[in-house]
Amino acid sequence: MTKIVETTYRVRREPLRTSFSTSLRSINELSVIEFHIKTDDGIEVFGESVETPAITGDTSAAIQSDFDLRLSKALIGKEFEDAASFYRAHIAQIRTTNSAKAAADFALYELQAVVSGKSLKEVLGCLATQVKSDVTIPLTEISEIPTLLAARTEFSIFKVKLGSEDMKTRVNKVQLIREIAGAEAGIRIDPNQAWSVDESITFSEETERLGLGIEYLEQPIAAMNKKGLAQIRKMSGTKIMADEALYTIADLELLHGLNSVDLINIKTLKSGGITPALEIIARAKELGVAFSIGTMMEGDKGILAAILIAGAHRPDYCHDLDAAWWASNTRLRYAKGMVAI
Ligand SMILES: [Mg+2]
Repeated sequence: MTKIVETTYRVRREPLRTSFSTSLRSINELSVIEFHIKTDDGIEVFGESVETPAITGDTSAAIQSDFDLRLSKALIGKEFEDAASFYRAHIAQIRTTNSAKAAADFALYELQAVVSGKSLKEVLGCLATQVKSDVTIPLTEISEIPTLLAARTEFSIFKVKLGSEDMKTRVNKVQLIREIAGAEAGIRIDPNQAWSVDESITFSEETERLGLGIEYLEQPIAAMNKKGLAQIRKMSGTKIMADEALYTIADLELLHGLNSVDLINIKTLKSGGITPALEIIARAKELGVAFSIGTMMEGDKGILAAILIAGAHRPDYCHDLDAAWWASNTRLRYAKGMVAI
């Protein structure tokens, strides 16, 4: 059996083609933190993470410290059979950032692929050759929207970031996007926790009154206010998605029990890796809660894992997998609103 004998990490910079802004942050480049694993039979693989202090609270310093002090100890000297059982035995319970655990889990799945002589795609059970993705319209001035849409004509579903603009401006932005993108386009709204319950209900009522066809409203209010999502859902005809409110199976159970959500947004960096993300998917399927696979603005490896999970578990849905579209040096390929596998 393969044994892990060494772990190391390093940071590399990945420039973005254009800046990415939401109500929580604005970034122009990524610092991707690689976590490398070496085995006694000479295999070397790595997983990746990024800091998202405004979203998960995980800083680059904390992630690197977790690699250094905790994950190295948890991994070195351990026999490896497969990623999920290794994760459950040695990683799930230790106290680290989820972003660090996720990088270790990516590396373990890569190791499983090498050890078993399969591709990562086969290991994750993905049969799809491409997966549909939306594309983000970042938080912006209304005057910029035509230019942003003109740069995204290959996509047909838009995730629109809104924030602290006044209600009239919010609605006007969506109205303009609907006019330019056409009746068939999908419009998803993500205020990233910037709104109150009342604002969310008003926005929903206004956009419904105008027939603007919002596919879903994602995490409009503070992550901790799970009951608030239920209030919005009850008072509006718009579907509600939880993103920052959904990290774990316990969050899913709570949101479902409160009737707070129509959909959840699953991201490996929130949940702590591929293994826990797959566990959340399994539970969501049992509960009948629809799920979408998303990513942070992160490196290719994490995005590829998300694409493969989406392709394996909900291949016919349009997920939120456009993060690599923003990167200057990505190997992932987008065409006609699909990302190739
Ligand atoms: Mg979101």
